[in-house]
Amino acid sequence: MSVKRILTGIRPTGALHLGHYIGALKTWVELQKNYECFFLIADVQALTTHVDQPELIEESVREVLLDFIGVGLDPTRENVHFVLQSGVPELTELTTYFSMLTPFSEVERNPTVKAERSQLRSNPTAGFMIYPVSQAADILLFTPYPPKEGDQLLVPVGEDQVPHLEQTNRIAKVFNRRYGKVFLECTAKVGQVGRLVGTDGGTKMSKSLGNVISLKDNSKIVENAVKKMFTDPTKIHRRDSGHPEDCPVYLYHQSFGDPKMLGERAERCKSGDLGCVECKKDLIRTLNSFLEPIRERREKAKKAPLREYLNQGTEKAREIGKITMEAVRKAMHLNYPSIN
Ligand code: ATP
Ligand code: MG
Repeated sequence: MSVKRILTGIRPTGALHLGHYIGALKTWVELQKNYECFFLIADVQALTTHVDQPELIEESVREVLLDFIGVGLDPTRENVHFVLQSGVPELTELTTYFSMLTPFSEVERNPTVKAERSQLRSNPTAGFMIYPVSQAADILLFTPYPPKEGDQLLVPVGEDQVPHLEQTNRIAKVFNRRYGKVFLECTAKVGQVGRLVGTDGGTKMSKSLGNVISLKDNSKIVENAVKKMFTDPTKIHRRDSGHPEDCPVYLYHQSFGDPKMLGERAERCKSGDLGCVECKKDLIRTLNSFLEPIRERREKAKKAPLREYLNQGTEKAREIGKITMEAVRKAMHLNYPSIN
């Protein structure tokens, strides 16, 4: 029977936000019905930018677990595993081998690394520069081994991750060509909204840019955040004709609102019938009714055996990791059968 496996992850550097939901979690919840899923809490990757904040990472691992359950991921399913990255040493080993197969110029050219590097407050560490290599290891460790016709390794992510997945597949190709086929190339799955803009209209909702609405925010916080949101700058008075496609508030309606009402909303905005204040009130209602069930499940999850979920998922990941690493060492001649 063919293996249908998912590996994807999130860095525990704070509570998760609407961007994480729309770009990643929403698809994960759907896919958990049909795939063997490994959802990685990438605490090692969090160190690439937060090495000075161990307390924040510790607290965020718990927050992410609550957010995972809040959005509807279900670790009590046999096929759903929550994995702590630092609990899988096979990932570190594979990262080291992959780093030898990756030209540094390729890492430097990666557009997502370039964009993130320009936002860093300090010089990038060596670990930061090669994080796409460690991400390749995160993904390819979960290769169905030996890979068979029809097997799948799917990676559901936001669009900023696509360069990393291309790099992952370049590494898989180089490895397979040089040492014989061990790895299955992964397939990216980017959701309908690959990148949610920030509440400030900035290109990406991101914690470090302070333009987020978190999944755990209460209704008052959501209300205040929406009230402060940027709108189409050319629509100053209600009667002015607006450009919904350039307005963050409309883009949020597109992502979280009733699709049947979108056409009418856009028309009313353009004709000057719908003002920004009313449109924002609608969005506050929409977001709060979307977030309410998440908040409730999240609250209940505080009493769930989170540690047990994490241990079980991490253990399962190691089982697979050991099989892959044995194949990797053998392919790379690192098992030295002639020495007894
Ligand atoms: P932040 O910038 O807020 O710290 P992050 O980008 O570092 O978040 P990651 O752990 O790198 O978070 O990303 C986890 C997943 O969420 C990835 O698949 C990423 O593409 C997706 N994602 C994060 N932010 C957004 C967004 N604004 N829109 C769509 N997808 C997003
Ligand atoms: Mg990121």
